[in-house]
Amino acid sequence: PSGDGGKLKIAIQKSGRLHDDSIKLLKECGIDISNGVNKLKSEASNFPLEVYFLRDDDIPQYVEDAVADLGFVGENVVYEKEKQVEVVEKLGFGKCRLSIAVRRGEEYDKISSLQGKKIATSYPVLVKKFLDENNITAEIHEISGSVEIAPGIGLADAICDLVSSGSTLFMNGLKETETILNSQAVLIKNKNLDGEKQNLLNKLLFRIQSVKKAKN
Ligand code: ATP
Ligand code: ZN
Repeated sequence: PSGDGGKLKIAIQKSGRLHDDSIKLLKECGIDISNGVNKLKSEASNFPLEVYFLRDDDIPQYVEDAVADLGFVGENVVYEKEKQVEVVEKLGFGKCRLSIAVRRGEEYDKISSLQGKKIATSYPVLVKKFLDENNITAEIHEISGSVEIAPGIGLADAICDLVSSGSTLFMNGLKETETILNSQAVLIKNKNLDGEKQNLLNKLLFRIQSVKKAKN
């Protein structure tokens, strides 16, 4: 019993790098939503779908809690948050990598160069996993933004942050040394969808896969 008229609820980023492509994908799936940028939610006129606009960091939690049934969010956020959600499909946009970078002048040979260093990041869980897998002990300093300036102001020896072109690293005098995760936007779902919602998800998924195929 869904109690909400059997509508699927999907969470997408309210504003930021994933917002436009998320809306675009829904449109390409033939789903019309009135996009009021400052609204919290919107309803599709031609598919039983309600769209919630949220901060990307909050999307895995909302999907785990079944406040939303589905979400479009970066793999980097899904794996950092460690919520109980299922990754259903890669979406082909929001591509980036989570990488370690050090000052350009600094000597960097291999992963063991990080031993004993201080690493600033917004992704402490993923960095810890990477260090453990490579038997490196380093200090992780969690900061929420502007990670790339940390080495320049003496806050850290290295950083781990999202990179796409590398120009932000370059402008901050840094060089990329290790990629710890390749990421793109994915569709996640709550693990306990009822049969009705799973059917709707299957319809949506079929459309998403058709859109992806048409682009290849
Ligand atoms: P919010 O206000 O929703 O918390 P944010 O500032 O955390 O937004 P954005 O910078 O808009 O997030 O990035 C959203 C997602 O876009 C990232 O989590 C990542 O999956 C993806 N992304 C793609 N390329 C990049 C990039 N070069 N830098 C950062 N994120 C990128
Ligand atoms: Zn965010």
